[in-house]
Amino acid sequence: MEIKPGLSALVTGGASGIGKGLVLALAEKGVFITIVDYSEERGKEVASLVEKIHTKFHSKLKFPSVMFMKCDVSNSRDLAAAFEKHFLTYGGLDICITSAGIGNPVPFSKDQTDGTRSWRHTINVNLIAVIDSTHLAIKTMEAAKRPGVIINLGSASGLYPMYADPIYSGSKGGVVMFSRSLRLYKRQGIRINVLSPEFVETEMGLKIDPDFIRLMGGFVPMQMVVKGAFELITDEDKAGHCLWITNRRGMEYWPTPAEEAKYLARSSRLRRRSDFKAPAITLPESFEKIVVHTLTHDFRKATRIVRTPLRLPVKPNHVLVKIISAGVNASDVNFSSGRYFGGKTSDVASRLPFDAGFEAVGIIAAVGDSVSDLKVGMPCGFMTFGGYAEFIMIPAKHALPVARPDPEVVAMLTSGLTASIALEKAGQMESGKVVLVTAAAGGTGQFAVQLAKLAGNTVVATCGGAAKAKLLKELGVDRVIDYHSEDIKSVLMKEFPKGIDIIYESVGGDMLNLCLQALAVHGRLIIIGMISQYQGEKGWTPSNYPGLCDRLLAKSQTVAGFFLVQYSHLWQEHLDKLFNFYSKGNLKVSIDPKRFLGVHSVVDAVEYLHSGKSVGKVVVCVDPTFQKQVAKL
Ligand code: NAP
Repeated sequence: MEIKPGLSALVTGGASGIGKGLVLALAEKGVFITIVDYSEERGKEVASLVEKIHTKFHSKLKFPSVMFMKCDVSNSRDLAAAFEKHFLTYGGLDICITSAGIGNPVPFSKDQTDGTRSWRHTINVNLIAVIDSTHLAIKTMEAAKRPGVIINLGSASGLYPMYADPIYSGSKGGVVMFSRSLRLYKRQGIRINVLSPEFVETEMGLKIDPDFIRLMGGFVPMQMVVKGAFELITDEDKAGHCLWITNRRGMEYWPTPAEEAKYLARSSRLRRRSDFKAPAITLPESFEKIVVHTLTHDFRKATRIVRTPLRLPVKPNHVLVKIISAGVNASDVNFSSGRYFGGKTSDVASRLPFDAGFEAVGIIAAVGDSVSDLKVGMPCGFMTFGGYAEFIMIPAKHALPVARPDPEVVAMLTSGLTASIALEKAGQMESGKVVLVTAAAGGTGQFAVQLAKLAGNTVVATCGGAAKAKLLKELGVDRVIDYHSEDIKSVLMKEFPKGIDIIYESVGGDMLNLCLQALAVHGRLIIIGMISQYQGEKGWTPSNYPGLCDRLLAKSQTVAGFFLVQYSHLWQEHLDKLFNFYSKGNLKVSIDPKRFLGVHSVVDAVEYLHSGKSVGKVVVCVDPTFQKQVAKL
C-alpha cells in the first residue's frame, strides 16, 4: 500500500511515545488521522501539530483532517465509538496502529493487591485492547471494502523474556503471537503485522536502567521504528510478520524462515498435494546406462555407455524408476577413480564395471511385492549409484517422494541437501553471523548462500566471473567477490577484519589456506570438498597444512568435515524443508542453461562442470520427450 494523501489511519496511544512518532510520520505523508488516547492535553497538542503539517496537503476540507478521541482503550465501548467516528468521518480505515501500552505499575514479585488494579489492567491495556482494536479495525476495513493494514505494537520483550516485568513481557508475547496468527486475513486484503522494537527513548523507555540500555546497544531511534512501520505498510508481502528492531542488529524479521521451518510440519501434505500427473510409461526390453570400466579421474576415459536388458519382475521391496533428470556432481570424477569405495586399488578394481551417477529424479514405473506406500506414477528422487541411466531398480526405502520430477528438484538432492544439512550440523549455523561460501554460484554453493541468508546472516560469496556474480547478487548475497576482478584475501582483510564466523568451503588447495587465515575466533570451517584438487596430474593427492593445530588452538576454531552419505537419516526431512522454501518463493534454484540431452551427453556435462564455466546446477535431461508429454496432459 502506498502511503499517500487521502488515506486514513487510526492510532491508539497516538498522543505520546511511539504512537506520536508514527502519527507525525503519517501526517507528513498527508494521511488523515484519528488519535485515540486517554490524555486529552497531549492528544490535542499532537492533533494541532498534525493540523499544521496537513496544511501542506489539504485545504478547504469539509471534515477535519485529524481528530482526537479521548478514550481509555481498555473500555470497549469507548474504543468502538472511536472506530465508528473514524469510519463516519473518513468513509473507511486504511491503516490502524495499536500503540497504546503501559508498563506494569507494581513489580509482580511485590504485588500484594488482588490484581484488579495492577497486572490485570496491564494485560487489559496491552493485550485485550489490542485484540479488541484489531477486531474493530478488521470490521471497519471489511465494511469499507478496501484493503487495509493493521500494525500492532509488540515489543522485543514479547520475543524473549523481560525478567524485570513478566506481566509486560507476557502481554507483549501475546500481541506477537496473536498478530502472527492472523496471517490468513491477507486473503481478504487485510494485512496484520507486529512491530517489536527494543527500547525507544520514550517516557516508558526512560524508566529503564540506563546501564541496561547501554548494554543493549542504546535506544532504538524513532526514525528506525517509523522506517519499520512504513515497510510493513508498503510491502504487500508482509502479513503475519513480526519485525524485530534493535540498535545492535538493525531490522530483522522474527522468526527467520529457517527457524519457522523447524516447527512448520507440512512435508507430507505438500507431497500429497502434488499436482503432478505422470504420463503412461511403456517398459522397454532394454535401456542405456553409463558404467565405469577403468579407474581414472578422467571421466571420459573411465566410462562407456552400455545397453542392458530390463529385468522384470521388480524384486520384492524394490521399485523400478524411469529416470527423467540426473544431477551432475563435481565428485563424479572421484567416483570414477574408485575413491568412493576406499580400500586398495586392486580391491576397488574387482568391482568393475560399476554404474555411474549419484542422483536423479523420475517416475515410479513398477513396484515389487510388499511395497505398499509407493505407487506406479509417483514422482521420486534417489541418491544411490546408477543415476546416469534410463531406468534403475532401487530398494523402495531409498526412494524419496517428491512433488515433481523437475531439474530444480534434482538440484535439491545432493547439492541442496549438502548445504542444508552441513550448515545445520557441521556449521551449527544460527543467525547474526558472517558466513563465507566458496564456489558459491555452483550446484551446492547457491543453496548455501541462500540458506545462510534465510537464517539471518551476512553472506559473503566467492566466484569466478561476471555471470556468476550477477546470479549471486540476485540470490541476495551481501558481498560477492568475483576473483577474476578482485583479490579475495585483500577484500576479506579490509572489509571483514574480525574474520569470518562460518565458512562453507568446497574448493580446497590455496582457497582452503586462505579461508583458514580468514576464520574468526570461535569460527567454524566446513570442509565440503576440494574441487580444485580432483583432477590434478596424479589425481587427488593428500595435502599438508603446517601450523594448522596451533592456529585452531590459538583461536578456539573448528574445522569440520562433512560427507552427505553419512546423514541419510536426515535426507527426507531436509528435502521437504527445501521444497517448502522453494514453493513459498523463499528459495530460488538456478539450473545452468546449457542443455544436456540423453545419457550420451553425460560425459560432456561432467567435463562442463569441471571447466569452471557452469552457473548453478548442471543437470542432464535423460528423457527429453518427458517435458512435451507432460505438457500435452
Ligand atoms: P559446482 O560447485 O557446481 O562446481 C563448479 C564450480 O566449482 C565452478 O563453477 C567453479 O566455481 C569451481 N571450480 C571448478 N573447477 C575448479 C577448479 N579446478 N579449481 C577451482 N574451482 C573450481 O559443483 P558441485 O557438484 O556443487 O560441488 C562443489 C563442491 O562441493 C565440490 O568440492 C564437491 O566435491 C563438494 N560436494 C561435497 C558433498 C559432500 O557430501 N561433502 C556433496 C556435494 C558436493 P568458481 O570458479 O566460481 O569458484
